[in-house]
Amino acid sequence: MPDLGRNLIAGEWAGGVAEIENRNPSDLNDMIGMFAQAGADQVDATLDMAQRAQRAWAGYGVERKQTVLMAIGTELMARAEELGTLLSREEGKPLAEGKGEVYRAGQFFTYYAAECLRQLGENADSVRDGVEIDMRREPVGTVAIISPWNFPTATASWKIAPALCYGNAVVWKPANITPASAVALAEIINRQDIPKGLFSLVMGSGGGIGQHLVESPKVNAISFTGSVPVGKAIAVAAIANLTKVQMEMGSKNALAVMEDCDLDLAVTLALGGAFGGSGQKCTASSRLVVHEAVHDAFVEKLVAGARLMKVGHALAEGTEMGPVVSQQQLDENLAYVTLGTSEGAELACGGARLEMPHKGYYMSPGVFVNTTNDMRINREEMFAPLTGVIRVGSYDEALSVVNDTRFGLTSGIVTRSLARATHFRRNARTGVVTVNLPTAGTDYHVPFGGRGESSYGPREQGRAAAEFYTTVKTAYISAGPV
Ligand code: NDP
Repeated sequence: MPDLGRNLIAGEWAGGVAEIENRNPSDLNDMIGMFAQAGADQVDATLDMAQRAQRAWAGYGVERKQTVLMAIGTELMARAEELGTLLSREEGKPLAEGKGEVYRAGQFFTYYAAECLRQLGENADSVRDGVEIDMRREPVGTVAIISPWNFPTATASWKIAPALCYGNAVVWKPANITPASAVALAEIINRQDIPKGLFSLVMGSGGGIGQHLVESPKVNAISFTGSVPVGKAIAVAAIANLTKVQMEMGSKNALAVMEDCDLDLAVTLALGGAFGGSGQKCTASSRLVVHEAVHDAFVEKLVAGARLMKVGHALAEGTEMGPVVSQQQLDENLAYVTLGTSEGAELACGGARLEMPHKGYYMSPGVFVNTTNDMRINREEMFAPLTGVIRVGSYDEALSVVNDTRFGLTSGIVTRSLARATHFRRNARTGVVTVNLPTAGTDYHVPFGGRGESSYGPREQGRAAAEFYTTVKTAYISAGPV
């Protein structure tokens, strides 16, 4: 990868105003590389170029756009092993998850490649004699994409792919913790048959060039995934310019475990949902709402399963949970362990710093029991390999606890009752509901998003993405006399 570490500014690989180092959270002695930090002038230059490039791209025929997206997706899938290894090395998720993420990122591009060919408008007769109406979607223009580190390739891809599919230019600011995956993806996109400057990569701190980017009046739409406070700040900047904005933020997802469930299935779903990706997922199962009839048996199996989980180097054979992403995240997680116990929760297992042969940000998967839904550990997004069990006496109480949160991204129920599953599906106040499935893990061809503080603006993914990445034009045509 010759351009590793550089930004893609106005169609050219370029250094920046500073450099940061990127180290492997599984082994801090493993230096992945140095990465350039773009300056505000470079962001401005790339935005000017993007406007021109976007007009050219919008003029490409749909098959030409489709070919570009298909090539990106196919290459990502073919290189899932190589790029998944790089991703796991810099983010810390086990290799199978890293490879799976890159493959899934490829699927976003191939899905939107197909959508390039399916952009059909609508028409109508007018209320006026002899007038016809044509309604079609047009690109919004230049889209700023701000993505997080926990799914560095997939989250960026589910934004970049529809942005390009619907004819927009993209200026992408990835999270500074995972720049290598960003450069790798940018390198693939930049090699395609696209107008120079249509796609840009600007690496740098969120508070610096991220803020500069979202404040620019040259940006027509902003798609963001990250924390609630940053999302709210971006919304303020966007509204100041009346820029279209879409945000996916935190959550506090609950998995309801009913007394009629398959208990082993419930434990498997809870372990995967709570500790997959070291719990650093917006869809993580961080509250386990368990019926008292199965509570003790569930907790026993859950704790046994958590204790058995192999924590280790993300690239090592057999690792089930890697490190967390950074020292800051580790410190915050351990602070939540202290907070939970001070609030009266009992730490049944884990939640401790782990020392390994290689220096990294390791901790053991932790399960809190005897928790109540008003504890801060059950109200705040911890983004940690920690989960809290809440005992309830009935299905109605379970549903009410599940919905008692300011977030609303995903929720799940484990039950054998069709009636309860149906009632839950209809009454859980989340954007995604699962039945006998994990709260984490969604498809790419259907909408994704939440309610409350979890999301703002139109849904992402699937055909729903057209709502954000396009604007509708309504044309009235009077043909006049023949
Ligand atoms: P942030 O919200 O800080 O970061 C998300 C992205 O926004 C990053 O690219 C970041 O840049 C950028 N950013 C930060 N500040 C600004 C700004 N003022 N203007 C424009 N862009 C900005 O999340 P963190 O990575 O710091 O994680 C903190 C917490 O956020 C986590 O513990 C978790 O609770 C939550 N989170 C939720 C995610 C989700 O999927 N819902 C994903 C990631 C985090 P940079 O990091 O380079 O400074």
